[in-house]
Parts: sequence; C-alpha cells; structure tokens
Amino acid sequence: MKTSYGQLTVDEVRNADKDRVVILSVSATEDHGPHMPLDTDTVLGMAVAEGAAKKAPDDILVMPPIPYGFNEHHKDFPGVIWIEPETLISFITDVTKSLAHHGFRRILLLNSHGSNHPVLDLAARKTVIQSGIICVSASYWNLISQRINELRKSEIGGIAHAGEFEAAIYMHLHPELVDLNKAEKQILHNAGSKFFNLDLAAGGSPANLVRWWSEISPDGTMGDPTVADAETGRLFLEAAVNATVELVQEIRAMPILKRKDHH
Ligand SMILES: [Zn+2]
Repeated sequence: MKTSYGQLTVDEVRNADKDRVVILSVSATEDHGPHMPLDTDTVLGMAVAEGAAKKAPDDILVMPPIPYGFNEHHKDFPGVIWIEPETLISFITDVTKSLAHHGFRRILLLNSHGSNHPVLDLAARKTVIQSGIICVSASYWNLISQRINELRKSEIGGIAHAGEFEAAIYMHLHPELVDLNKAEKQILHNAGSKFFNLDLAAGGSPANLVRWWSEISPDGTMGDPTVADAETGRLFLEAAVNATVELVQEIRAMPILKRKDHH
C-alpha cells in the first residue's frame, strides 16, 4: 500500500479509499540556534507523518510537505524564509480544496512550527466551511505533552525552540547534523510569570506575546538543547507517531454529518 500522495498515479487517486486521512505537514525554514539546521521543523514533522503512515498504511496518505511558515519575527537571523499568515492560510486552503475536489474528505494539518498553530487552526476551520469535509489541525507536541514531561531532562522552559525536544529528535534522525558543542542553554523567556509560558509541554500559555526573536534570544535558541540525547529523541518521536496514529484513527471513524438550514 503506497502512503505517499506524490507517488500515486491518476488511477490510484481515482480508486483511492477517500476515507483515508490525508496528512499535510506544515513547518518552517528558519534558524534553530547555532547547533541545528534550518530544516528542523520539516524533518521532524515529516518523521512524525511518515512514521504514522508506516504504522497505519491503510489509514494514511502523506502529502508533500509545505516547508515554509509564519515566522517573520525570526528574520533577524540568517536563513529565515517567511510567509505572511494570510498567504499561508490561502495556500493551505488551496491544497485542501484541491483534495476535497478529488473526493478526499478527511484531512489532518500536522503542524511542526509553533507560530503556525493559529494559522493552521484557521486554515482547518476555513476548509470545513468552504469544502464541507473534515479538516483537523494539530501541533504534534500537543498530542504528547504528558509523555514529554515524563521523558524530559530539562526544566520547564527547556523545550520551546531548538531546545531539548527538537535537538533530541533531530539527533536520533541525523546525529551528524546536530552539534551540541555549539549549543547553549537559553531560558531567558517567561521566567516566573503567571500568564506567559512558551514551553511546548507546559500546558499552554494563558496570555500570548510573541516578540521579535532577536529581542529574547541571543542565538535563536529558546530552551535547553545541552541535555538532549538521541535515545530520548527516539522515545519522543515514537510517542508522537503513536499519538498521531490514534488521532488519525479517530478522524477516520468520525461520522460525516449533514448540515441543516434552520431558516
Ligand atoms: Zn523548530
């Protein structure tokens, strides 16, 4: 069973089980400190999507990823490619509209870049309204926050951007591309605040402020990559893959409901 959308032929799309969940990974191309590559969010997001597809090939199709995201606030660091949020919403909903046009009715927008979270939420909701299909959005770390907190070595604040979580998973996948000798612990944000918390596994932030990244991090890191290790990265990834499979199975089983005009 093929799980890569790009590898399907016309006949295979025509005859595809349209209740398979189509996963569209949306990420970013941006600075990840001095110790990790620009493609971190794309590599990690696709590892989750493809890992899930390997475990549940009959239930999943994986789209080619969208490797750019909403991150203009990072542009003081070299290498960042940023997309306006309005453009990103339009681009994503053009993809989902295309999928709906071909008959697919269950889509998961799988986010792997923090600031895309509200953008993907809006894109999923627009898809539901415009195409009448099921479209879910999720940031993969939110599926496993409890497991992250069981496994983590860093304190709260250590898992935000290019910190322990991302560094560990990238080290598991491509150890030669992560250089922890260049990594520094940067927990300068939200220390001691009651309302602001940027840690990805801390249960969300009651209030939100996203500043220019260069105002709050001297090297682009937000978190503690120095305690990252590949084995914990493998366990983080395994948890994310398993949770994604569970989410997909729930999406696959959801009834397609009928609207009713009450005018
Ligand atoms: Zn990242």
